[in-house]
Amino acid sequence: PPPHPVLANAALNRGRRFADADRAALGVDALVPSGPARSLREEVARLLAKLASLPTPILRYECLLRLASSDEELFFAAAQTNFAHVLPLIYTPTVGEACVTYPSLDIPPRGLWLSHANHAGRIEQTLRAAWPRKASVIVVSDCQRILGLGDLGANGMPIPVGKLLLYTACGGVPPADCLPVVLDVGCDVDAVRDAPDYIGTRAPRITGEAYDAFVDEFITAVARVYGQSCLVQFEDFGNANAMRLLRKYRDDVCCFNDDVQGTAAVGLAGVLAALRMHDVPTSIADHSFLFLGAGSAGLGIAELLVLALRRAGLSEADARKRCWFVDSRGLVYAGRERVSGDKLPFAHDAFPAAVSAATGGLAGLVDVLKPTALIGVSTQPGSFAPEVIAKMAEHNKRPLVFALSNPTSKSECTAEEAYKHSDGRAVFASGSPFARVELNGRTFVPGQGNNSYVFPGLGLGVLVSGARVVPDSMLLAAADRLASLVDQGQLDAGCVYPDPKTLMDISANIAHAVCDEAVKLGVNTKDVADVTVQQIRERMYEPGRGRM
Ligand code: NAP
Ligand code: MN
Repeated sequence: PPPHPVLANAALNRGRRFADADRAALGVDALVPSGPARSLREEVARLLAKLASLPTPILRYECLLRLASSDEELFFAAAQTNFAHVLPLIYTPTVGEACVTYPSLDIPPRGLWLSHANHAGRIEQTLRAAWPRKASVIVVSDCQRILGLGDLGANGMPIPVGKLLLYTACGGVPPADCLPVVLDVGCDVDAVRDAPDYIGTRAPRITGEAYDAFVDEFITAVARVYGQSCLVQFEDFGNANAMRLLRKYRDDVCCFNDDVQGTAAVGLAGVLAALRMHDVPTSIADHSFLFLGAGSAGLGIAELLVLALRRAGLSEADARKRCWFVDSRGLVYAGRERVSGDKLPFAHDAFPAAVSAATGGLAGLVDVLKPTALIGVSTQPGSFAPEVIAKMAEHNKRPLVFALSNPTSKSECTAEEAYKHSDGRAVFASGSPFARVELNGRTFVPGQGNNSYVFPGLGLGVLVSGARVVPDSMLLAAADRLASLVDQGQLDAGCVYPDPKTLMDISANIAHAVCDEAVKLGVNTKDVADVTVQQIRERMYEPGRGRM
């Protein structure tokens, strides 16, 4: 039989859960088995059992993605009530494997591939034809730097798809409003591009003016087709383009880059929450930061730290001096070779003691610079060696040690190492999850600075307020709010992030902070001056609300 319009529509399909009365009304009687309707709760339990019975994460990924395209209610009910279980399957770490094996996955296509070869010059008409309905949030990637995996060309679709599933699962953004896009501008990795089953354009990446014109055509077309308030999230662009595109569009287009700004807000929130811990200097003005790694994440965090330091009374120049960077060539200082334009604002005047200490490694540098916080965004596992952590602990009652590189195997140190080599004094946070640690009769709970704490709520706040742009002060507001949600119990256990079980509430709070900031800046196009957290929370998409 031809597909029934209700059963074929993921937003309407209820699988085995159609109530008797609805079966006749919707015309699906006899198309679903005649047994009693199952409850959503039962079906979620059944799904979780099914996932557990599958032998590998990628099979679970396929199962979940098929479900997302056939029965949204069940998919999002399962995700929203089981974050800890489902998030790692639809995003990191499983999403990395999904990208690498994308051509062989058995899942329905999802998202738009706009290829330079086929669509340059006619992106607007392509969008109108391929996605004629509304779009409120677009996550777009050119897939040049997927997670830590590099250039995966058109195979990177699971990244924008996954991020948007999280917009709904963590932020209650209606799934119908979410459009994933890959800009297929070629691929520079022969092994990817020449694989027999490669799904994208078999050509090297376009660069320079042709690349810029293609991105520009896309941005312009989005505003024409979906309106100026459609939020565009840039995701996993190469380093050279990420910052450049952000600078180019941020003042005129409703957009942000999660690798830079979302990471920044989460990182800063961790620092702000730590200020409320015993024996940590309470003013951010009394802190200084040594970054290992000066890519999108490190520079993003530092730029937002500068805003926070200026708010605490420092001049911009003094605020920048509180941030030191080490990249793959060592300490970043003015006059050194190959300091890119993005790093330049943080290049300190040559400081002989520091430069020579740097040759002795990170521990030597900690000894000279005496930072209160060490932030790892380098992708170099083990680079926070025991002597580095010990040096941090020598100079600080409670050093901040954030090992943010993902996945777990890339973390600059483990949670246990951080606690062990600091006599249990380090305030540790990581990018990937670490289990709690028992040491000397105490239990430490490592915080995981997952970007899902911020971007879904940020996007929701932008949608609710109709903000025209996403200035950095919105990210600062989001970081403040996130930090304020960490309760005393978490702080006492050494954890600088709130319990992720409450992610939907966290997102409502962050959206509220974003609305306030939008009103303050006058960039809102909707009247949200008096909106409350509760009102936002009630508007969020939540299948089975009150029934689960
Ligand atoms: P990226 O743009 O590729 O930057 C990596 C940086 O590390 C570059 O500056 C690179 O130096 C530097 N580096 C490489 N080897 C080094 C070494 N041996 N010593 C010191 N620095 C070295 O990557 P990214 O987007 O910033 O992400 C970095 C890491 O942070 C990734 O592992 C990512 O998973 C993680 N991350 C975590 C979160 C989170 O926890 N929420 C969010 C985003 C990213 P050059 O500049 O000289 O090449
Ligand atoms: Mn990313």
